[in-house]
Amino acid sequence: MNNEYTQAEQAFRDEVRQFLSENLPEDIRRKVLLGMHLTKEDCVRWQKILYRRGWAAANWPTKHGGTGWSATQKSIFETECALAGAPEVVPFGLKMVAPVIFTFGSEQQKQRFLPDILASNVWWCQGYSEPNAGSDLASLKTTAYRDGDHYVVNGTKTWTTLAHYADWIFCLVRTGGSQGKNQTAISFLLIDMHTPGITLSPILTLDGYREVNEVHFDNVRVPVENRIGEEGQGWTYAKVLLTHERTNIARVAHSRCQLQRARELAGATPDGDTTLMENPVFAHKFAEIEIELLALEYTELRTLDAVRTGQAPGPESSILKIRGTELAQSIDELHAEIAACGGLPYLPWQLEEDFDGERVATDAAINSWLRYFNNRKSSIYGGSNEIQKNIICKAVLGL
Ligand SMILES: Cc1cc2nc3c(=O)[nH]c(=O)nc-3n(C[C@H](O)[C@H](O)[C@H](O)COP(=O)(O)OP(=O)(O)OC[C@H]3O[C@@H](n4cnc5c(N)ncnc54)[C@H](O)[C@@H]3O)c2cc1C
Repeated sequence: MNNEYTQAEQAFRDEVRQFLSENLPEDIRRKVLLGMHLTKEDCVRWQKILYRRGWAAANWPTKHGGTGWSATQKSIFETECALAGAPEVVPFGLKMVAPVIFTFGSEQQKQRFLPDILASNVWWCQGYSEPNAGSDLASLKTTAYRDGDHYVVNGTKTWTTLAHYADWIFCLVRTGGSQGKNQTAISFLLIDMHTPGITLSPILTLDGYREVNEVHFDNVRVPVENRIGEEGQGWTYAKVLLTHERTNIARVAHSRCQLQRARELAGATPDGDTTLMENPVFAHKFAEIEIELLALEYTELRTLDAVRTGQAPGPESSILKIRGTELAQSIDELHAEIAACGGLPYLPWQLEEDFDGERVATDAAINSWLRYFNNRKSSIYGGSNEIQKNIICKAVLGL
C-alpha cells in the first residue's frame, strides 16, 4: 500500500514518524513493545501528548477539536503509532461516548463534556452489559425512575472494562418501567462514578490482571440533564456507538505491527538448519494471514472514509469486527508458535528494567501465551462475532 501514497501523504507519514521519535516516552514504548500492562498514568500521559499536538481525536469533526484527517491519513497515523510502540488510545471517551455526545447531545452537554474528553482529563467506561443481558442487550434490567429533576438508578452492569480507573460511565438504563425487551423504554445516561451508591467488584482475567469489573448501582441519583437526547431513545444512540466500537475493535494497524514483529522473530528462531520463517508450513500460514490482512485494510479504509464525512459506520463495521478479531487471534497463534515452550513460564519480572537474574526465555516469549489467552476476548466483546454474523445476515444479505 505504501507505494500508492501521494507525495502529501508521504510527507504526512514523515511528520508522524518524526513526532513519534521525538515525543513517545521511551518507558511507555518499551512496555508496549514487550506487551507489558500499561498503568492509567501511562495511558493518560501519552494521550495528553497527542492532545497537545492536536492529534488526540482522529475521528472527531474539526469544529469540536478533531483532526479532520482523511481515511488514509488516519490509517497512516494508526500504523506509524503501532510500529513505533505507541499505546492505543483508550476508546471509551475519545472513540465511543464522544461521537454520541457530539451527534445527539445538547449544546450544554457538548460544552461540558467534550473538552475534558479531548484533553484526557476524565476517564470513561462503558455500562451496557449486565449479568443477564449481553448478546441480548435489549433485555437489560437496570432501572432509572424519575424523582423530580433526577433519575434514581438501580441495577448491576458487568464486564465493565477498567471501571476502577473511571471518573464517568455511560449507561443504558430502563426508564419506561416496563421489563422484557422493549427497546423504546431504554435511555442513555452519563453518570459520575463518584456519586454515592456506586460500588465495584473486580473480575480478574486469565492473566490475573484486573481488567474488568461489576458495577453496582444502589439508589444512585443522576441529574436528568445527564440524559443524552430523548427519554426512551437510548437504543438508537447505543447502536451508533456500537458501530464506532466495532470499527475500532478491528485494530488493523495493531495487527499489521504484530505480524511484522512475528516475521522478525520467526526469522531469528532456529528451525533445523534454517529459521522458522523458512519452514514451509509456517511460511504458508504467515502468507495467508498477510494476504487477508491486506484485504481487510481496504475494507477499513472504505469505512473510515464514511466516518470522515460524518456518517456512522454501517453494517460493514460488523465485517471489520469479525475479520479483524479473527486475524488478530491468528497472529497471536503465530506468536505462540514462535515462543513455543519458552512462553510457558510466567515471569513478568524478567521484563523489568532492573532485572539481573537468569533469563529463562526470550523477552518476546514471556507474554506470548498470555496475549493469546487474553485476546480470546476480542471475538466476544463489542457484540460477539456470532451476533455480528446475524447482523450481516439481516442488514446486508436481507435474510
Ligand atoms: C474482556 C471483556 C471486556 C468487556 N468490556 C465491556 C465493557 O467495558 N462494557 C460492556 O458493557 N460490556 C463489556 N463486555 C461485554 C461483552 O459485550 C459481552 O460479553 C458480549 O456482548 C457477549 O455477551 P455475554 O457475555 O452475556 O454472552 P452471551 O450473550 O450469554 O453469549 C454466550 C454465547 O452464545 C452466543 N450467542 C448468544 N446469542 C446468540 C444468537 N442470537 N445467535 C448466535 N449465537 C448467540 C454468543 O455468541 C456467545 O458465544 C466485555 C466482555 C469481555 C469478555
